[in-house]
Amino acid sequence: MEKIILVTGGGRGIGAACALLAASRGYTVCISYRTDAAAAAEVVAAIASAGGTALSIQADVSDEAAVESLFAQIDKRFGRLDALINNAGILSPQMRVEQMDAARINQILATNVTGSFLCAREAVRRMSTRHGGQGGSIVNISSRAAVLGSPGEYVDYAASKAALDALTIGLSKEVAAERIRVNGVRPGLIDTAIHASGGEPGRISRLRSSVPMARGGEPLEVAKAALWLLSDEASYTTGSFIEVSGGR
Ligand code: NDP
Repeated sequence: MEKIILVTGGGRGIGAACALLAASRGYTVCISYRTDAAAAAEVVAAIASAGGTALSIQADVSDEAAVESLFAQIDKRFGRLDALINNAGILSPQMRVEQMDAARINQILATNVTGSFLCAREAVRRMSTRHGGQGGSIVNISSRAAVLGSPGEYVDYAASKAALDALTIGLSKEVAAERIRVNGVRPGLIDTAIHASGGEPGRISRLRSSVPMARGGEPLEVAKAALWLLSDEASYTTGSFIEVSGGR
């Protein structure tokens, strides 16, 4: 039976790479997006033209009703869910902690933390043997920022990713006996538009020399780690993290 995967924020960047790679590995793919419908449609079209099945659904992961509607639409269309990549994430313009206000911090936490919790909750309700499900696998896209702290750039973002890592550890233990594995990927400097949203499109060029491998990474390199964690190749791996960061 073909497996069904949801990739949140699957229209662009790392999420798009995950969606395309999942389709090439035989998954039926659902991607969600917040505002960029055209980018999401391009990913769906690329999967369809390669003979796969995909659909995109608009849903802000920080909005509980929108997340519930997203999963209800997946239920209606496919009737089950086998894999989730919690990828949707944001950062805000670079600044020091003493300049941050509550609105900024809460916006980051609402998407990166609350959004991931809500999607994980809905996935567990469908996958867990406790609820009559067949099991499944969840991968949370964290960041090396969770460990490095992002001083002078976005400590709020780094803190949100550390919270996501705690979700990975705690949830992995909570559902381990219910045939669900939960793991994380911590990307380093990956070539996507997220750096422009932090106010520095050329950030990778500035920081390249701090990477032992002396280059930024590609979204596909992150997707390969995520897809491995989802696969049966990782059948005894849960509560684990893969660093995809060129050694940084
Ligand atoms: P991009 O900015 O390229 O893409 C982000 C994606 O997330 C978009 O598809 C966007 O949707 C979606 N998104 C953002 N907010 C929401 C929301 N509230 N609800 C639903 N979807 C949302 O980012 P990346 O591909 O670089 O990042 C993907 C993940 O990887 C993030 O979690 C990020 O923190 C993490 N990461 C990235 C690194 C990097 O160097 N690029 C390094 C470490 C971690 P839309 O297209 O509609 O705007």
